[in-house]
Amino acid sequence: MGKLLCFLEKLKNLFKNIFLPPSCLHCRKKLTDDSQNLICLKCWQKIEINSGFFCPECGRRLYQPQKTCHLKVPFILAAVGFYQNKVLRSLLHALKYKGAKEAAGILASLMILYFQKSKLENSLNDQQFILIPLPLHPAKKRRRGFNQSEILAQELLKRTKNFFLPLETKALIKIKNNAPQMELENFEARKENVKNCFFIVKPELIKGKNILLLDDVFTSGATMNEAVRVLKASGAKKIIGLVIAKA
Ligand SMILES: [Zn+2]
Ligand SMILES: [Zn+2]
Repeated sequence: MGKLLCFLEKLKNLFKNIFLPPSCLHCRKKLTDDSQNLICLKCWQKIEINSGFFCPECGRRLYQPQKTCHLKVPFILAAVGFYQNKVLRSLLHALKYKGAKEAAGILASLMILYFQKSKLENSLNDQQFILIPLPLHPAKKRRRGFNQSEILAQELLKRTKNFFLPLETKALIKIKNNAPQMELENFEARKENVKNCFFIVKPELIKGKNILLLDDVFTSGATMNEAVRVLKASGAKKIIGLVIAKA
């Protein structure tokens, strides 16, 4: 049965490639062999990868992952790139709305490049971190069929060779199915919208831990701030907010 399904899947892909030859997700140009799966080489080269970190409060660039200018924010932001980058935006859009695991694979490769460029890899090597993808509310996850941050985390772990990063998806959950942040205009409304939306089920898994908190995009930061607040209240040590793109 498994073999038959596998064969049918291959047949389906063959037909798809004949009648709908793969084109670049961003520029729609026909893909050649040297492309990076979903995007052409030209678009791949247009993605700019950051080399440092950011203060989540004021957006200032930080060159060390341990120092932030606004001390009341108990975490630093590690952003692979900027949301203004159109190719990156196309990949993020594919990840969220088409459920494309391939997009997650490419984004995970970009994360690895960022770890090297920013030297975050050294911190992950020296200090033990656990990886927590930002959870979705169960109803929202059911509707979408997946949690994009979780898929990113899984694809990232397939590619980490130089450090050990345990995945933790059971400790932090989302208990409030709030309205999408994009529908709200100002920071105060967004902050209110996500207030008490997270809950720590297993504080013993958080206490004393260094945490890499993963999400796809950082816009106002209200969601990540709220998650950091509850993680800190449960005794988390150091927190780095890792996102693909910062607005
Ligand atoms: Zn392209
Ligand atoms: Zn600052």
